[in-house]
Amino acid sequence: MDMHLSSNNGPAVEPDAAQPDAIAPEGAALRIPGPAKERLVVVGNGMAGMKTVEELLAKAPGRFEITVFGAEPHPNYNRIMLSPVLAGEKSFDQIVLNSREWYDANGIALLTGEAVEGIDREAKTVVSQSGRVVPYDRLLIATGSMPFIIPVPGSTLPGVVGFRDLADVDAMLAAAAKGGRAVVIGGGLLGLEAANGLRVKGMDVTVIHLMPTLMERQLDPSAGMLLQRELERRGIAVLTGADTAEIVGDEQVRAVRLKDGRELPADIVVMAVGIRPNMALGRAAGLECGRGIRVDDRMRTSDPSIFAVGECVEHRGLTYGLVAPLFEMAKVLAHDLAGGEDGAYTGSVTSTKLKVTGVDVFSAGDFSGGEGTEEILFRDASRGVYKRLVLKDNRLLGAVLYGDTRDGAWYVSLLKDGADVSAERDTMIFGQGFGGADGGDPNAAVAALPDSAEICGCNGVCKGTIVKAITEKGLTSLDEVKAHTKASASCGGCSGTVEALLAATLGDGFKAAPTVKPMCKCTHHSHDAVRASIVERGLKTMAEVFQAMDWTTADGCASCRPALNYYLLCAWPGEYKDDYQSRYINERAHANIQKDGTYSVVPRMWGGLTSASELRAIADVVDKFAIPTVKVTGGQRIDLFGVKKEDLPAVWADLNAAGMVSGHAYAKGLRTVKTCVGSEWCRFGTQDSTGLGVKLERMTWGTWTPHKVKLAVSGCPRNCAEATIKDLGVVCIDSGYELHVGGNGGLHVRACDLLVRVATEEEVLEYTGAFMQLYREEARYLERTAPWVERVGLDHIKAALVGDAERRRALNARFLFSQSFSQDDPWAERAAQGVDRHEFKLLADVG
Ligand SMILES: Cc1cc2nc3c(=O)[nH]c(=O)nc-3n(C[C@H](O)[C@H](O)[C@H](O)COP(=O)(O)OP(=O)(O)OC[C@H]3O[C@@H](n4cnc5c(N)ncnc54)[C@H](O)[C@@H]3O)c2cc1C
Ligand code: SF4
Ligand code: SF4
Repeated sequence: MDMHLSSNNGPAVEPDAAQPDAIAPEGAALRIPGPAKERLVVVGNGMAGMKTVEELLAKAPGRFEITVFGAEPHPNYNRIMLSPVLAGEKSFDQIVLNSREWYDANGIALLTGEAVEGIDREAKTVVSQSGRVVPYDRLLIATGSMPFIIPVPGSTLPGVVGFRDLADVDAMLAAAAKGGRAVVIGGGLLGLEAANGLRVKGMDVTVIHLMPTLMERQLDPSAGMLLQRELERRGIAVLTGADTAEIVGDEQVRAVRLKDGRELPADIVVMAVGIRPNMALGRAAGLECGRGIRVDDRMRTSDPSIFAVGECVEHRGLTYGLVAPLFEMAKVLAHDLAGGEDGAYTGSVTSTKLKVTGVDVFSAGDFSGGEGTEEILFRDASRGVYKRLVLKDNRLLGAVLYGDTRDGAWYVSLLKDGADVSAERDTMIFGQGFGGADGGDPNAAVAALPDSAEICGCNGVCKGTIVKAITEKGLTSLDEVKAHTKASASCGGCSGTVEALLAATLGDGFKAAPTVKPMCKCTHHSHDAVRASIVERGLKTMAEVFQAMDWTTADGCASCRPALNYYLLCAWPGEYKDDYQSRYINERAHANIQKDGTYSVVPRMWGGLTSASELRAIADVVDKFAIPTVKVTGGQRIDLFGVKKEDLPAVWADLNAAGMVSGHAYAKGLRTVKTCVGSEWCRFGTQDSTGLGVKLERMTWGTWTPHKVKLAVSGCPRNCAEATIKDLGVVCIDSGYELHVGGNGGLHVRACDLLVRVATEEEVLEYTGAFMQLYREEARYLERTAPWVERVGLDHIKAALVGDAERRRALNARFLFSQSFSQDDPWAERAAQGVDRHEFKLLADVG
């Protein structure tokens, strides 16, 4: 149990306190008696209870001495976001709504990990599981609900979990970490979000659902079928019309047996078949209960001192399982507790959005159809869009949207208003922005909404409230609107509409959240997000990336495949197998294609050194294959131009025989290490620049990097090897070596930045390995070091390499580890071992 007592003005509570006015525990600051405050005790530190407290603090700060009991050991968090936590898209810290500091700052005594077990209505006290007795003047029950566990044999076996709280998510993540199979019972919102999360985490997942189509309470059969197809495409097996007979296992769940006899092996079973209001406390206290604790329109129970909000209540015969209605209840109750008199909760229109990244599903109202109703349907199979509106007497009754849910908020506002839609009846299926003067402009569309239109369904925030906050408080960004109004702070489904409102209200003054540039048309994720996911979620093949990150194409494209191939190679050295088909032609052919379709071949010359035997072998190859042009390159090597593709393996074999390997003149990898003659021959030379260049090239050759990399070593500051316009350049000085980074001599010339001065060759080698690895791990594919250094800043690179010796050593160690898998000569593999033989055959020979 965790206890947080505010230090001065909060209530003091103590286990076994016999008297209503409990004594402060030892160590807690003494309270200075002030005017007696009413004592409010809240049972349930969840979304509805804490929303009530937040609203109350805003309306009547300091009016109550507040104590909150929470059965879970955590501060209040956004339960809706457990699905993204399961899928690895958010961390727990990111979904905390009110930190412990917030409770302290507001003088609230928070008792976590401590369930209330009884209410004594006579004495007006509650007693908790530890025996703590706390008096109240007003009591709020907000105990939420519990997952319904179907009482089939085996349902209490270890390995059977619900999906309600963080403990359930932890249990699922622990199971997923071992791989294996998951069976999710229930194809509703929660079941599908659980199934998606477990699938993303690498489990084999089967959803079993009693009804013929998924989410039948929110979606009509057509949308349900589209959803099923999409989930199956993501590798989730779906069995509809399937009834669970038994959960099989001895010590631990082993399988799920269906009534038709089928048995599905399972390492974990998630029961997501529904929820039951958690009303035990209220019922035991003798409060009037039905399907939940009964409340009136002011959220009062049958005891005038006790109130209830959230999923645990029954209001006008209905229970709710989504936050929007619960937040409406919370507002009404806070208004009442703050002394307001005219508040009333009269029920809610609910809407649902599935939180499976990349699957857009929305429904609101009643779409079951029936007598006197009309339907408007829209299907666009190529875009995967389906929309269905149900109308009665020219008023919208329900809406189901699949694939394009942008107009959800608009349909909800039409539903709530009960407005006559005859004027827009013919075009409303296309959405609010269709036709008219706005020509489909979403900003104009939200500008046209009335102030009463609800933008954020979860938090019940209307357009008028948001616009007022924007103009009066000078808000200019989505985050600011979130902070001031709570719009888009829960499920985030309305953030696009809030941004459109900002843009419509502020015009040019709107600071759109920096939009992340997607990697390519196959995904909305940026390069950085994809790389981070590969590492954090342990994605080890392209197929896993496509699956886990909702690629919109089955196999990626020419733009994302090479980048993914590189990111996977970099993340999993020795494990991931390079996919040659995902490389550009020069890298596939291990030679540079020239403008006449022939290739150029460049053998490596370590540090620019060559020998008579190498030159002889080159001359022989030139004669033997009638190579028309031989040229010395800017990188101090010899380039053979005009080699026919089909001759490449034989040319390489002859060069290999003379001890030469590929110069990787075509690669996104190390190209050359240019050197001057240095102290060996030059009278100005301070160090052996050639020898150091050879060592650097031996260490770095064969590496794959985001783009090409060129190194150089100059023997003195006269800098004959032009080291200060290389990706990494070493300039030898009397006292040792200067390391320069981020230079470029190409189209946009950039002089290097000085990284560090060091004394020994060993240090040069360690810094070089570390710099290469930092660039490999952090730069985006096809980003050279110069723009990378400019983007992240030299300070960032210095901090990693110069300021943190441990990190530098670790980076260097990772570089050397990865090099142990990559220093194979691709020419030898192809010339001698026949790797990729088909690449070099004439088309006529293939087949
Ligand atoms: C995975 C998941 C996804 C969801 N997605 C959505 C969504 O997309 N949109 C949406 O609108 N809604 C969604 N919901 C539903 C939404 O989270 C709930 O409607 C909302 O949290 C209910 O709020 P509440 O305060 O009534 O209950 P809760 O948030 O469950 O809070 C009740 C708290 O009371 C505590 N408690 C219970 N008994 C006691 C006791 N005796 N003493 C002390 N503490 C006690 C519980 O431990 C719990 O912490 C989702 C729910 C889950 C589980
Ligand atoms: S850089 Fe210095 S050492 Fe190297 S060749 Fe030029 S003058 Fe000589
Ligand atoms: S400088 Fe231009 S023309 Fe010359 S080799 Fe490079 S790309 Fe070709």
